[in-house]
Amino acid sequence: MLVNLLDYDLPGLAAYFAELGEKPFRAKQVMRWMHHFGAADFAEMSDLAKSLREKLGQLATVTPPSMMAEQASADGTRKWLLDVGSMNGVETVFIPDGTRGTLCVSSQVGCALECTFCSTGRQGFNRNLSVAEIIGQLWWANHAMGRDPKGERIITNVVMMGMGEPLANYTNVVTALNIMLDDNAYGLSRRRVTVSTSGLVPAMDRLREDCPVALAVSLHAPNDKLRDVLVPINRKYPLAELMAACLRYLEKAPRDFVTFEYVMLDGINDQPEHARQLIELVRDVPCKFNLIPFNPFPDSGYRCSRGDAMRRFRDMLMQAGHIVTIRKTRGDDIDAACGQLAGQVQDKTRRVMRRMEVSH
Ligand code: SAH
Ligand code: SF4
Repeated sequence: MLVNLLDYDLPGLAAYFAELGEKPFRAKQVMRWMHHFGAADFAEMSDLAKSLREKLGQLATVTPPSMMAEQASADGTRKWLLDVGSMNGVETVFIPDGTRGTLCVSSQVGCALECTFCSTGRQGFNRNLSVAEIIGQLWWANHAMGRDPKGERIITNVVMMGMGEPLANYTNVVTALNIMLDDNAYGLSRRRVTVSTSGLVPAMDRLREDCPVALAVSLHAPNDKLRDVLVPINRKYPLAELMAACLRYLEKAPRDFVTFEYVMLDGINDQPEHARQLIELVRDVPCKFNLIPFNPFPDSGYRCSRGDAMRRFRDMLMQAGHIVTIRKTRGDDIDAACGQLAGQVQDKTRRVMRRMEVSH
């Protein structure tokens, strides 16, 4: 079986070259070719000895997932559906905003965590993505977008906010993050790479030690009773533990705040009492709020909060001294908005079957 070199970060690649009896600096050269120049063919790697290129050609490949479909929104958002085998597909979204270009990357085929307002969660779970499939999304997007006239990359930021729970695919996600940060690859600073989690507390602690990038936490409810329903992982890691984990994370984080994501659900979590509870909950945690208008999908059972309710909620948080943004919904004409990424998931959890049994 051929080794896919996109599965390796720099230490991994150096170990691979050591096994081949090659010098460690070869790893840097190959990283640069693959990720900096987007090469997928060893023949292009002109500063490697011909004998090494031939050896690699026999033992290894550079294989990103293949592209199934590409869509472009009227607002400049672009979405790619990547084939990850066995009738599964994952989505990646590029969101331009002024000088910033953000790529929203998926980490799993589906998601096992079953947040009730999330279309990925509804679809069930098939498997974790490999490192090559995660970093392959950045590889493809760079390939598709090219560079600006000054030769700079168009993608300036990465958010792990696509399909899946990144911290539930910990090892592969951290290796992919290492590649994003590596100067020989994408060279992004830790502040420009964000992991979004529904709150897997032990993995948040590991990430703080292994690769402390910017952290976003999907809060969505200000008390355990409501969060137990909206974000069921809360039953395992309730809010008090989650807030404590956020504080610990900040000791190493590249930014001095955590971003709390809060999806606005009409009549569910958008009332003044919820804002008051939220202010109390985060009292000790340096944070910013990102209010996300709920993006509907078929049979979700939820509605987005009304504009006046969202503004009232925002104003209450701001009056308490918080920085609050209401996330602009982008790419909704191509179903590329938060929580709408559906890809193609062959569910292995039999979730749809279970739901049918419950409703009968
Ligand atoms: N699993 C991770 C990252 C992926 S989801 C997490 O939950 O944080 C990225 C963000 O989109 C999360 O804050 C998630 O709660 C939110 N989201 C999910 N479904 C949504 C929907 N239908 N409308 C708006 N935001 C949604
Ligand atoms: Fe999974 Fe995040 Fe969706 Fe929850 S919101 S089901 S954790 S992808």
